[in-house]
Amino acid sequence: KLQKTGIEALKQVTKRYARKQNRWVKNRFLSRPGPGALPVYGLEVSDVSKWEKSVLEPALEIVQSFIQGHEPAATPVKIPCNETENKRSYHMCDLCDRIIIGDREWAAHRKSKSHLHQLKKRRRLDSDAITAIESWSVSPDRDKELKEKGSPGQNDEELKSSV
Ligand SMILES: [Zn+2]
Repeated sequence: KLQKTGIEALKQVTKRYARKQNRWVKNRFLSRPGPGALPVYGLEVSDVSKWEKSVLEPALEIVQSFIQGHEPAATPVKIPCNETENKRSYHMCDLCDRIIIGDREWAAHRKSKSHLHQLKKRRRLDSDAITAIESWSVSPDRDKELKEKGSPGQNDEELKSSV
């Protein structure tokens, strides 16, 4: 019984590992193929009895052509072009100082709470900046006014001292 449980557990972790590897290959080479990304070839592996014919031979064929430096007869697996483009397109949100990858994600981001919060904050800052500039350009006149208003007091002092 212990052996049976052991075999089952091994099967389970192997499956999990295989899924993980598939995901990794998909992300690394298919979703966002960067520079130096290698072509990926799909092989029919579901029938173990046909292993040599459907897996081993095509795989060797691909490797052989790769070594000899020419394109193999098999075509590499590719994710449909528009989906790849969609995933690769990115938007820079300078409000949030973030890069958003994907058009759908970008649309979602612009509606997101955090983005709208940043937008509000930015608008408030902008209006503050405008008021600051306005008051700054006005201030020289204000200084004059203050000096003129201040002078009568000084005159009073002078008058008192002169009397
Ligand atoms: Zn944003």
